[in-house]
Amino acid sequence: MASNTLTIEEYREVAPKGTVDLLLRLAERVRGRRFLHVNSTRSGGGVAEILNRLVPIMTDLGIKAGWEVIEGDPGFFATTKALHNALQGMEQALTVAMLEHYVDVNRANAERLRPTGDLILVHDPQPAALILARPPEGKWAWRCHIDLSAPQRRVWAFLRRFVERYDAAVFSLPSFAQRLDIPQFLVYPSIDPLAEKNRRMSRQEIQKTLDALRVQSDKPILLQVSRFDRFKDPVGVINAYRIVKRYHDVRLVLAGGGATDDPEGAEVLNEVREVAARDADIYVLDLPADAHLQINALQRAATIVIQKSTREGFGLTVAEAMWKGKPVIGGATGGITAQILYGVTGYTVNSVEGAAYRIRYLLGNPPLIRRMGAAGREHVRRNFLITRHLQDYLSLLVRLTA
Ligand code: UDP
Repeated sequence: MASNTLTIEEYREVAPKGTVDLLLRLAERVRGRRFLHVNSTRSGGGVAEILNRLVPIMTDLGIKAGWEVIEGDPGFFATTKALHNALQGMEQALTVAMLEHYVDVNRANAERLRPTGDLILVHDPQPAALILARPPEGKWAWRCHIDLSAPQRRVWAFLRRFVERYDAAVFSLPSFAQRLDIPQFLVYPSIDPLAEKNRRMSRQEIQKTLDALRVQSDKPILLQVSRFDRFKDPVGVINAYRIVKRYHDVRLVLAGGGATDDPEGAEVLNEVREVAARDADIYVLDLPADAHLQINALQRAATIVIQKSTREGFGLTVAEAMWKGKPVIGGATGGITAQILYGVTGYTVNSVEGAAYRIRYLLGNPPLIRRMGAAGREHVRRNFLITRHLQDYLSLLVRLTA
């Protein structure tokens, strides 16, 4: 399905009853208003993924929705990567020259794009300084998708100067919000139930996809889908599996990707392979970036999904798994805590032993696996679908451009 042909009506059967009608009412209120999104990439990463779907649906709803992407040289993107890391709490060296270049590139983009609209939603730090060139008309909101709970103070002080010129800021979790003199809104991320990653799959299609991946499903599957990143704790997952394995005959699948162009990713992947070595029941899959259907099939084939992160922004994989009716055992951090209803849709855990304990508990109680899975799907239906995201953005448009 080409993304530019998306219509809101397609969501009627997946979203909660009444959702599409409410969206139509909201859209009526703001029909013809210009809602421009600006970010720094057309593809790759969650922001682009969601905009690829949101913008066509907004258009279908009668909003004059647009999406512009800023451009920059490698120096600019090296700086914004360092900014990103520092804002998420990592120690980074940012020179005055780097920050000046960041502002210059933003000014050049403002000149090229001349962003105008009733509402301009600027996503993440990369294009934040576009606000310097804001025209007198239109409202501007800064949409922060990253974890700002413990930023490097000096770097946040730099960015904050731009953020405070906006009319509002939007964060993904309450704990990510900052002390600011502008109104702040909370908008959770979302998944698209009709995208390849989440769409319905038949049993045969799942089986065919697993066969192509050479993953056997003759035993219960424990699954974690994650970039090979230390914060996702893949080694901790293997250690938990080893404890479980003494009591239950299961397989473990660690599916991830993006390791080839990320030196640290490759390093973690090697480490994981070493730890997993000689255990035929552990599959370590290094998937290409567009393996959406494969991930969908793995999530559907899994008995229990794990997301044992020690640090996490939101953790879309949790919502993806719950949508497929799977109980999720996740690290008690960031957005994982906001998504898992403890004891209802899964469990949050703080250690390898805790993860193993909860996995064993569930494996010994199949009816509970089914009940939790069903609750998880309903929880996602109500709270984490793209339709809810759209509702929040349209509400913001109503609020800010009344
Ligand atoms: N994902 C993927 N391929 C991989 C690993 C992850 O497509 O090899 C997807 C995953 O399904 C999810 C997203 O990337 O949609 C990861 O988002 P999340 O918020 O869980 O973690 P992040 O990678 O942003 O820290």
